[in-house]
Parts: sequence; structure tokens; C-alpha cells
Amino acid sequence: MNAHMPTVAQEAAAILDRLGVSASARTGGSLIARSPVTGEETGRLPVASVADTQAAILTAETAFKTWRLVPAPRRGELVRLLGEELRATKAELGRLVSIEAGKSVSEGLGEVQEMIDICDFAVGLSRQLYGLTIATERPGHRMMETWHPLGVVGVITAFNFPVAVWAWNAALALICGDAVIWKPSEKTPLTALATQAIFAKAAARFGAAPEGLAQLLIGAGDIGAALVESPKVALISATGSTRMGRIVGPKVAARFGRSILELGGNNAGIVCPSADLDMALRAIAFGAMGTAGQRCTTMRRLFVHETVADALIPRLKKAWESVSVGNPLTTQALVGPLVDGLAYDAMQKALAAAEALGGRVTGGTRVDLPGHYVRPALVEMPAQQGPVLEETFAPILYVMTWRDFDEVIAQHNAVGAGLSSSIFTTDLREMEMFLSAAGSDCGIANVNIGTSGAEIGGAFGGEKETGGGRESGSDAWKGYMRRATNTINFSRELPLAQGVVFDI
Ligand code: NAD
Repeated sequence: MNAHMPTVAQEAAAILDRLGVSASARTGGSLIARSPVTGEETGRLPVASVADTQAAILTAETAFKTWRLVPAPRRGELVRLLGEELRATKAELGRLVSIEAGKSVSEGLGEVQEMIDICDFAVGLSRQLYGLTIATERPGHRMMETWHPLGVVGVITAFNFPVAVWAWNAALALICGDAVIWKPSEKTPLTALATQAIFAKAAARFGAAPEGLAQLLIGAGDIGAALVESPKVALISATGSTRMGRIVGPKVAARFGRSILELGGNNAGIVCPSADLDMALRAIAFGAMGTAGQRCTTMRRLFVHETVADALIPRLKKAWESVSVGNPLTTQALVGPLVDGLAYDAMQKALAAAEALGGRVTGGTRVDLPGHYVRPALVEMPAQQGPVLEETFAPILYVMTWRDFDEVIAQHNAVGAGLSSSIFTTDLREMEMFLSAAGSDCGIANVNIGTSGAEIGGAFGGEKETGGGRESGSDAWKGYMRRATNTINFSRELPLAQGVVFDI
């Protein structure tokens, strides 16, 4: 290494200093932060206790009681300022995302752009929290619905989108009048500290945000669990593995809390005979290898029609063999590191299981760099079985061929997860079939683009083992509010609904 170049840890420390994160928040504690880029230690963070979590919930409850009375457009002003602060710090925070999550520089910046975009969206929404006026069957009456703030929102996030997912939740929750407590992934705590410092700047400029309106708790699953179990937390928005969701979902349901679950994906693409193969090639390559296969929407399965298999699969293999893998901070590599050794082991285990079932593997080998770098794997499978049915959070694309359209749709839907999906076709019938009620069973279904890279304007989330939650755009804001149906009688009579007579 160049003697004058700062280490990754030094660079992270300098960014945190500039963003105003105190040294005491990242030194001397028990949670060791590491950069997957080099494996270097980047901090030792003090962690919250369960008692701290309970105190944070009480503070948030008090903040909520004030915040819910602030007019929504005024609440939007805080989120507008947050968007401004994020614009001003985009380069720094984006770089820190790359350091801590191992993303390419462009993807790190893209993640912060997503935060800015959702702030803009939420500011507009703060004047549009509409309820309906509904025709009533009773004369001299009016019926309408009102959306009220919900309460304290617990946000639990995954390592792979360390800051954007907080923003998707927080921007909406704040304009909806809720207080937010964030438990980020224990693998990416520094970006959370940085984001919290950026929020603090926006709150200081706003001037009137109640104390504890948006809090951060650094810690592991036990802190998440304390949020999940508290009846004072009205909504748990949890993003992570299906394994985590299986624990969190029933616990929140048992106390009749509300949850938004954003869990694992096992996303597929279908290539049809009429597909534009040049376009499909690029979309599949980014979908499957981008972010080193560590997106919830990463393409993990590919069904290629047998008439175009010979034209497409060799080109895919060539792309897999030639894609650049390396340090995302110091090179232009398109594929960065896996998050840790566990991810590497899980990938190798899945590849061995696929080979045992007759899979032919291209790539998948370790790249000799500090950290856990690996060449993306493309596995030609004789059938959809074994590891193909599961999400392995690493760059593995299982490729299979198909002949019959109905059969490939059935195969497409025959996995537990239901997050994202794509079809590559120029045939109108195939396209519409795929998007129809009898087509893809996923929350996201795309035509002629890959499975990953959603925009914030649409509702984001998936069905089945992906958890059913929706975040971000469209009317996802309704998840952060409670609905009251109001009926007002302005007549001098008391007609009962359904014509019931009850004369006393
Ligand atoms: P993970 O499940 O290991 O951890 C996610 C979060 O849950 C962490 O903050 C963790 O501390 C917390 N947690 C773990 N156990 C808990 C418990 N019992 N109670 C409360 N909180 C608990 O996931 P990860 O490895 O960080 O992220 C990768 C996974 O996340 C993949 O499966 C990916 O598909 C999924 N993901 C889904 C989406 C989506 O929107 N659907 C987005 C990003 C990531």
C-alpha cells in the first residue's frame, strides 16, 4: 500500500469526524465494526442494553405525544431539511456506505440518493395524507375517514442497505407523526452513527423536534428483540432474513402489534424466445453480480428458453469469467467483497450442494485479497432443486432451461420467497401473462429490466416468505398511520344503519 494513503479505518474515522460523530460513540466499546473491503477493524462501539432500549421507548412515546399534534406539512419541513443535509453530505455518507458494506462507489452514492429521493417524496406526501369521504346510507349524515399518527415505530435494518432502509421508514414515519427508534445491523453500525448525526443537524435547524423523536440503538438481535416485545412500539418494520422474520413476525402478532416485514428473496428472470438478448445479458449481469449478490432483489434463478439457450448462456459465462472483482474503494471493480467469512462459507456450501445435484459451476472461486472476495458463480442446473430453492446471500445465479410457458411460470413461483421477478420478452401475450393474476406471484414483477434496482416511488416488498410488507412509495405511508372512520349526524333524526328500528 502507498505509505501516504490512509487505511480504510483512518478514512472511516476522518469521515465520522467531519460528520460530527463523537469518538466516544465508536471507541472503547464491545461491538467491533469491520470493513469488508479489507477486513480491517473500523471501530469498537459501545452497545445499548435492554434497559437503555426500554428508556428509549419511553422517551419516544413522550416525543410522539408532542409530534402527533404538529401539522403534517410542518412535520414535512423537518424531512425537507433532512433531505438538504443528506444532499450536502452525500459524498461522505456514500463513501462510508462503501467502506462499511463493501459496495462500489457508485452504489454507495446511489444508496444515499435513495435517501434523498424518499425525503422529497415524503415532503410532498406531508400535504397529501388523504382520507376518503364515503357515501352514507343515512340522510343528514356524513361519513369520512381520518388518518392519525400511529405511535412509536421500531426500525430494524439489514447490513446490505445500511442507511436507505432507515430513510424509507423514517421519512414516512416522521411526516406521518410517529417517533422512530432504529436498531441497525450490528455489521454496519458506523453508517448508522453517521446518519443519526446528519439527522441531528436537520433537527437542530428545524428547532422544534421533540427530544427523542428519532433515536438510534447500537446492538445485536437482543436489542431488536426488546423493541419487538414492547407493547409500546406500535409498529415494527423489520428488514432482514426470513429466519429473523419467523421470530419477529409471531412475536409482534402475539401482542397485536403491527409489523412490516421485508425479508429474503429468491428472485428469478425468465428469458423468452423473442427477448432482446443484448439487453437481457446486461440486465441479468447487473441483477445477479451487482453488489456481489448481496441485494434482497438479486437475481438468483434464471430460466432460459431452450431455443435461445445456446445464444445466451455462453455469453453469460463469458461475462461471469471476465467481470472485475476487487477493492471497490481503490479500483473500478464491478464486484466487491462478501460481507464476511460466514457469507463465503454459505456460498461454498451452496455450490457444493448444487454440484452434487449435477450443477455445472462457472466461477465461485476465492480471489486472493484481504477480506472475502469471490468470483461470482453461474451454475447450470438440470432442475430446480436443493440450494436453488433457497436464498444464499452471495453471487450465485442458477441457470435452467424451459420449453412450456405455463410450466416455467409454475417453476418460477415454486419457491418460498416472493420478492422480485423479471421477464425478458417482446411478445405482448407473454408479458401480460407474466404480470397477470396467474403470472408472477412476487411483490415486484418487471418486464425487460432486471430484478434489482427499484425506484422509491413504487411500493417495495414481497409476498410469501418475503413477509408481505410494503415500504417506500405508493400508499405505503398508510402502514405508518391508523385509520379512523367517522360518521357525523347533522340531521334532527337518528336513523339507524341497515334500517334497524329501536324505538324506546
Ligand atoms: P439478518 O436477518 O441477519 O439481520 C437483520 C436485522 O435483524 C439485524 O439488525 C439483526 O440484528 C436483527 N435481528 C436478528 N435477530 C433478531 C431478533 N430475534 N429480533 C429482532 N431483531 C433481530 O439479515 P442480514 O444478514 O443483515 O441481511 C440480509 C438479509 O436481509 C437477506 O435475507 C436479504 O434478502 C434481506 N433483506 C431484505 C430486504 C427487503 O426489503 N425485503 C432488504 C434488504 C435485505
